[in-house]
Amino acid sequence: MDKNFQEEFMQIIKFEPPLYKQRHQFVRDLVEKYKPKKVADLGCADCRLLWMLKFCSCIGVLAGLDICANAMKEKMYTLSPLPVDYLQPSERSLTITLHHGSVAHKDPCMLGFDLVTCIELIEHLEESELNKFPDVVFGFMAPSIVVISTPNSDFNPLLPGVMLHRHPDHKFEWSQAQFQSWALETARCYDYSVEFTGVGDPPTGMEKVGFCTQIGVFIRKYPPSGLSVQSETPTEAVYKTIFKVVYPSLKDEKYLQNAVISEVIFTAQIIKRRLMSKREEYGDDPGRKSKFQLSMDCFSDQLGKLVVEKNMEPFVSGNEVYIPLATIFSFPKVNQLCGTFEKLCKLIAGKVTLSNDGSAVMFSIEHENEEN
Ligand code: SAH
Repeated sequence: MDKNFQEEFMQIIKFEPPLYKQRHQFVRDLVEKYKPKKVADLGCADCRLLWMLKFCSCIGVLAGLDICANAMKEKMYTLSPLPVDYLQPSERSLTITLHHGSVAHKDPCMLGFDLVTCIELIEHLEESELNKFPDVVFGFMAPSIVVISTPNSDFNPLLPGVMLHRHPDHKFEWSQAQFQSWALETARCYDYSVEFTGVGDPPTGMEKVGFCTQIGVFIRKYPPSGLSVQSETPTEAVYKTIFKVVYPSLKDEKYLQNAVISEVIFTAQIIKRRLMSKREEYGDDPGRKSKFQLSMDCFSDQLGKLVVEKNMEPFVSGNEVYIPLATIFSFPKVNQLCGTFEKLCKLIAGKVTLSNDGSAVMFSIEHENEEN
């Protein structure tokens, strides 16, 4: 490399967005592409990547593993659900678990993952750990995709101030040739294919040095049903679980019921208000305006027709307003939450005041007047 050329670049190499963000974005793009349901991040450190991945809606299980419990503990609470997650539980289920342990050891909690990420991890491994790593990740965990990123030492001369390694804890840093030869041999051994890429573009005219961070994406060649090592050698749990959260989800009947009750009451209130304001407009005597017209005015277009056709009009009797459940069920949000009319009835039974025959939600008019 031309020395002057090299020195010129040493002053200006600064990645935007920062390299760690580019690495995490790379993983996120991969998740969007392959839609894995279960993702494990090995060497997850302060859980930043896990935090980013919790927003990927395809993921239902996220796990982190690190040999340093304190690194995980520092920010692990950022992985907890927020109040809004309880107020508006999501459709999907999501469980996040953090384990304390080493990638040199096998633990059954690491089985069944679709994607395993090892971002800037391998260069922190001692030789003995690195030797065990392929058997643990590719042989035992055997996910469909493994992503490994590591510094590319060919790029180091362009980085100001880097003498031997980029970080004092790095046990080694590989050139492109070294990483590719290790990765190809590992892929061959465990029946994976591997493709090389990276993040952190080299300066124009210096493409030969490659990306600042080199990345190998390994894809398992054999189907998941294939004989795996774990079925032959059962392993005992060796990792310690230090954090586990289960996000509220509508898949959980408890949260679904709460959501349906709120939505039913909200919908019934809207219908009731519209009905009452029409009554005020036309007076208490429905004869001043036909019942048909009153119903049509209460609802918009399509729904208005449906309400009338199916005899689903809300009505007032004595001091009570009755909103037929069938009307409430025809509102898209309620319909989508419950799926069937039977499910709606089951979920609100005993939780919402209904008419004697159970076909309508009942509100007192006086109560409304008192509120006003
Ligand atoms: N993946 C993170 C940080 C990588 S730093 C990121 O993308 O930013 C490397 C991490 O690997 C450190 O947190 C370190 O504690 C962890 N580590 C080192 N040796 C390990 C081992 N044998 N098993 C599991 N984690 C290990």
